[in-house]
This record gives sequence, structure tokens and C-alpha cells, in this order.
Amino acid sequence: MKAIQVAKPGDADCLALVDIEKPTVQAGTVLVKNKYAGVNYIDTYIRSGLYPVSMPTLLGREGSGVIEQVGQGVTGFNVGDRVAFLTVNNSYAEYSVVSTSKLIKLPDDVPFDVGAACLLQGLTALTLVTRSYKVKKGDIVLVHAAAGGTGRILVQLCKHYGATVIGTTSTEEKAEIARQSGADHIILYSKESVPDRVREITGGKMVNVVFDGVGKSTFNGSFDSLARCGYLVSFGNASGKVPPIEINILSRGNIVLQRPMLNDYIATQEEFDDAANTLMSLISEKKVEINICKVFDLANAVDAHKYIEARLSTGKVLIKI
Ligand code: NDP
Repeated sequence: MKAIQVAKPGDADCLALVDIEKPTVQAGTVLVKNKYAGVNYIDTYIRSGLYPVSMPTLLGREGSGVIEQVGQGVTGFNVGDRVAFLTVNNSYAEYSVVSTSKLIKLPDDVPFDVGAACLLQGLTALTLVTRSYKVKKGDIVLVHAAAGGTGRILVQLCKHYGATVIGTTSTEEKAEIARQSGADHIILYSKESVPDRVREITGGKMVNVVFDGVGKSTFNGSFDSLARCGYLVSFGNASGKVPPIEINILSRGNIVLQRPMLNDYIATQEEFDDAANTLMSLISEKKVEINICKVFDLANAVDAHKYIEARLSTGKVLIKI
């Protein structure tokens, strides 16, 4: 089968289209003939070596397709089922063997592209607003990169749970996109001071929580935008890793700092099923829209990585298999 492989860490050009053996199904797994793979920032961290893995490696943490074979002991899934899945570095490929623990049947009204696009960013956004900090009516929330894939879903969910949302974006075009997703106020963080604008917008109240997937370049501004007893949820490194911090800074306003990863919010079957079913319902009921901004062919995976690293994405980037 055809797949994308990384032989050693490097920039996007190190992604190579290779012919490898089709994987074989194991107990507790299914073989999926893929339709789409989702492209995520974590794929670039693995490719570049920021998150080290043994090389050579395949890539891709999510996808959608049709079950072609079912392993021993599998119940609840059958050949021919339309599914979406989370996986570990193997969805940029014609076939993936995936565990049934992170597999969900797609409702009839959810197409394959939305299925591949929704799980990683959607479950991240959902668990951030329900478990890292439970967003509620009356909260004022700051969402960085509000026109990005995870950002647009975060904005919609925070609005759904009754918060006022301040979003940040680098350009006016992205500001408009974030507004379309529901952001009440936008700060152009490429030009404006985030804490100063937050102070202005909130009349000095500041925000209850910051969802910060940008990392290095936004961390200090996020901290300075918080109200007393606020939550700084730092969940990504799009601009680079946040440098080590001095714990005593948290005493300035009794701030709660978190660095959550999706996996530890969906570690048990019950947690995954609850979150995935909630997300699918929100999509089916049109309470959350999954925005697919660009689709690349498998052979052009290099361009998909270059696209997200050039900050061009305004929603989900997919690879069509
Ligand atoms: P996005 O679509 O949000 O893209 C990242 C955005 O970050 C860019 O579009 C850009 O928006 C902004 N950005 C700011 N500075 C930079 C920079 N120097 N280089 C590139 N982008 C920059 O990506 P995702 O939604 O896929 O991911 C967002 C973050 O969430 C990532 O850090 C990712 O690792 C993290 N994440 C974490 C998870 C977890 O379990 N903790 C799970 C899933 C995602 P703008 O131009 O408006 O500044």
C-alpha cells in the first residue's frame, strides 16, 4: 500500500511517499480502508523531532474510512461499517490497523471528510471546555488562534455553554473567520497588546480562562489577561514550547495553570465513548460546525505540512487517500 513515511526528523520535505506492506489485523483491532486522514500540529512535532519517536515512522493521528477486516475478539464493529478513529502515527496511508478503543461509527449524516476532521481537534476542544475548565454562562473566555482548527471549535463551544468569547488572530481576514464562528471580540495579537485590549474590552474584569494553543509567543500575555483565580490552560506549541516557569508567579492572583493532553481525558473506554458521542451529537444537531479549509492528496502531504506551518489554515486540513 502507499503511505507517507519519515526516515529521520526534519522539515516538511522529509515526508516521503513509499510503498509498504499492507498491515495485518490483530486481536482487538480492525483494518480500515481509509478515505481521509486528518492533519494535525502533532504530526509536525513528530516529523520535526519535537516529540521524539523511533524512526522510520508513519504519520497521522486520525482518519476515516470503511472497515475491511475485523480482528479476533472484536464486538460491536463489522466489515463495511463507516468509521472514524484516533490512532498513533499511521493514518497517512491507504490502510490503517486501529484499536477499537478509539473507534466510532459515523452517523449516517456525518460524511467521511467531517468524520476524519472532527475527532482530534473536536475532542480536544470539548474536553478543554468541560474538563480543564468547565465553561459556564457568564464567563469571559480568551481563545488564542481563534480562526484555527481547534480555535474555531473552542469558540463555538464556549458560546454554546454561555460565555463571552474574546478571540485572537494574526490578520483581519482571520478575525472575520473567528467572528463567523461566534467570537464576540477580536484582538489582533500581531499588532495589539493582548492584556491591554482584554482590560479595555472587559472594563478591567479580565478573563476567567485562557485557552492557549500557541505557546511560547502568547504565554506571558495570557497570564497577564487573567482575572483573580483565573485558569491558564496551555495546550499547545504552535509558536514553540513555553520556556520553564517559576512556580511562584502563580501566586499573583492564585492562578491555576494546566498543560493538558487529549489522551489523558479519553484514556478509558467510557471517557472516549462519552466525549465522542457528545461531539457527534453536537455536530449532527448543527451546534458545532467542523470547517474543512483545505484537502491535499496523499502524494502532496509535504504541502499539507507546509500549509499549516505557514499559518494558512483556518479550520481542518485533510489528506484524501
Ligand atoms: P491551528 O489550525 O490552530 O493552527 C495554529 C495557529 O496558531 C495558526 O493558524 C496561527 O494562527 C497560530 N500561530 C501563532 N503563532 C504561530 C507560529 N509561530 N507558527 C504557526 N502558527 C502560529 O492548529 P490546530 O488547531 O491543529 O492546533 C492548535 C494547537 O493545539 C497546536 O499547538 C496543537 O499542538 C494543539 N493541540 C493540542 C492538543 C492536546 O492534546 N494538548 C490536541 C490538539 C491540538 P494566527 O495566524 O491567527 O496566529
